[in-house]
Amino acid sequence: MERIEFTREMKKDYTILVPNMLPIHFGMISAVFANEGYHFEILHNDSSAVVEAGLRYVHNDTCYPALLVIGQFLDALNSGKYDVNKTALLITQTGGGCRASNYIHLLRKALVKSGYGQVPVISLNLSGLEKNSGFQFTLPLIRKTISIIGYGDMLMLLKNQVKPYEVKKGATDQLVKQWQTRLCEDFKGNKGLSLSQMKVNFKEIVQSFSEVEMQKSEKTKVGIVGEIYVKYSSLGNNNLEDFLLSQNCEYMIPGLMAFVLFMIDTRLEDVKLYGGNKLKSAVINVLFQYIAKIEKMFIHAIESNGSFLAPSPYVHMKSLVDGVVGHGNKMGEGWFLPAEMLELCEQGFENIVCTQPFGCLPNHIVGKGTIRPIKERFPKANITAIDYDPGASRVNQENRIKLMLAIAKEQNMATVTIQVEDKPKKKSPALISVASLL
Ligand code: SF4
Repeated sequence: MERIEFTREMKKDYTILVPNMLPIHFGMISAVFANEGYHFEILHNDSSAVVEAGLRYVHNDTCYPALLVIGQFLDALNSGKYDVNKTALLITQTGGGCRASNYIHLLRKALVKSGYGQVPVISLNLSGLEKNSGFQFTLPLIRKTISIIGYGDMLMLLKNQVKPYEVKKGATDQLVKQWQTRLCEDFKGNKGLSLSQMKVNFKEIVQSFSEVEMQKSEKTKVGIVGEIYVKYSSLGNNNLEDFLLSQNCEYMIPGLMAFVLFMIDTRLEDVKLYGGNKLKSAVINVLFQYIAKIEKMFIHAIESNGSFLAPSPYVHMKSLVDGVVGHGNKMGEGWFLPAEMLELCEQGFENIVCTQPFGCLPNHIVGKGTIRPIKERFPKANITAIDYDPGASRVNQENRIKLMLAIAKEQNMATVTIQVEDKPKKKSPALISVASLL
């Protein structure tokens, strides 16, 4: 099948559709690409037609994120909203051994089968996998994208810590929007993207969130981890975040920056474990150090304000998996997935939803497969692995999460009683019966 290249000519008047995963981040990233002459449109279509289109044109053994992403593209092309002769699609290619590297080929096959063979597909990758004359992910653009990941993570982290406690409904979302608008304006003038400007902005952002009026009340703390798409995408996880808010929870989702560090670090680990080009490794290390600097500023801005919980540094997360899985384990989310669970446990988010898409063998191994050693280290860890696939019932998923929350409440009550009575107490019969169901 011949590949349709995205040419310089196309850059002038084509709309590039991008699947949604992280709304805060992706909105700002599209603003930066607009400065370079690209017209991105982030997709928000999420009706059942998305899944139907995916099921129709993607083999049903394919992992669920591929089915959703391809279904969302096809549904958008079918909608009549876009001129299909002036539309391109953008998809990431990780370059790793996982199937994410091959989504692009599945997408092209589905486009041909559904009558959109003329639509070019652009690969966004850092591995030089596919090149298009009309789309270049240049070094300055990479640097800007990394800065936005920092801002996106900051807004997401603070939003998640403030929103469950806001006194004025909608105040947190409003503040996120204000910052997005302000930052996008700055990006237009190429401002806000250097390390020194980020340092100033990070502090201001944290300060502004600390001024939102909050009413601290007792909430169940829940961490969300899992395969990157279903973890972040509301389309992939059936609006998990909204569901947790409706269940009186405060949830924590680890940011994207540490995942990017993990992706880069796996290249360095490969050279350490199997050998390889030392010069390439040195260049990759420069990129790693640059992002680590942003991470340091990020953590410092939060800790110096003192109002919020900061994430742990990447190097600390990496050390947490010693004795659980090796650092050479990199398929899917690799060792990073148990590292996120261990970090959440350390930070007091011991109730964890581990989102697992259908067909994702790697993350079943490093997700479900590591729950036992994590529980040995953190006996109060209350982890539930939830499967997401086109046939899974939402009610079933939510009922499993409710069981996990019931256990959390029981454990909390047990802790309080132990503290008051100052003597060990047996698990209540209710807790034992709920635990035995899982
Ligand atoms: S991590 Fe899992 S869901 Fe993602 S591409 Fe790999 S197998 Fe598919």
